[in-house]
Amino acid sequence: MREYTNLQWPETPFGAEQRPFGRQWDMLTACTLEWTTETDGGMLPVASSFVYLRVRKHGTAQAVSEDTLSIGFRAIVIDDPAHVRDLLTVTERELSGARRLGVILAGHALSRDLTRMTALSATPLRGAIEVEAAWTRRDVKQRGAAVMVDTAVEAAETGVRLDMPIDPVPEGMPDCPACAADVARRALTRCLAVGLTAAVHTQRYTWEETFRVGALIERAGWDVLNTGADTAACPSHDTGVPLRDPVALAPPTAGGRR
Ligand SMILES: [Zn+2]
Repeated sequence: MREYTNLQWPETPFGAEQRPFGRQWDMLTACTLEWTTETDGGMLPVASSFVYLRVRKHGTAQAVSEDTLSIGFRAIVIDDPAHVRDLLTVTERELSGARRLGVILAGHALSRDLTRMTALSATPLRGAIEVEAAWTRRDVKQRGAAVMVDTAVEAAETGVRLDMPIDPVPEGMPDCPACAADVARRALTRCLAVGLTAAVHTQRYTWEETFRVGALIERAGWDVLNTGADTAACPSHDTGVPLRDPVALAPPTAGGRR
């Protein structure tokens, strides 16, 4: 299990003394999971991501930009199906904390992610089940719990201008440290896009023109995402696409080239 984060706080991020953003601010947490499809059609999680955005408690929407916005992030990536259980445990813990102590929790069809998570676990994932139940009834505001925003449902028509789609794309199990960092980079970028969409939907953020989401992740995460790992022995790096992808192995068809 690999972790990519810029957070200084340890296991319990939301302790009273460790609140990352101070009392003038609310915290918006975005949570996304990336999945791979196994040969038998089953789905396994490859990565879970959390992006923490500082949003104003009161007043008009804050003007933000990709050059100046500060974010906290944490991505967990596994490269072996044997580590799914560990990934689920960490994800559940972070998610429960975000729901209890954050003010806004954002996901993109998070209910589907949580249902898949609980189906994969031999023992009950109580935190995930709890969040899933609350997510389903998220139109009912619960005292002391985060407001929940689904960017695939109520925030789908928010009209944010991002340089990428926020629907998930299938990932593969990474083959080497550099592949794992690439998964983390894509996962964090999508997670930030979900967070930004929710921040616009809740009227906390606004920006001019198109927000370059990947550029912000590169800036915020360059030191942890650029591993400098040797990719010479990794088959996925010869062509830039995973070799197990059948499309990549098919010869180009006549007229198929541009
Ligand atoms: Zn690789």
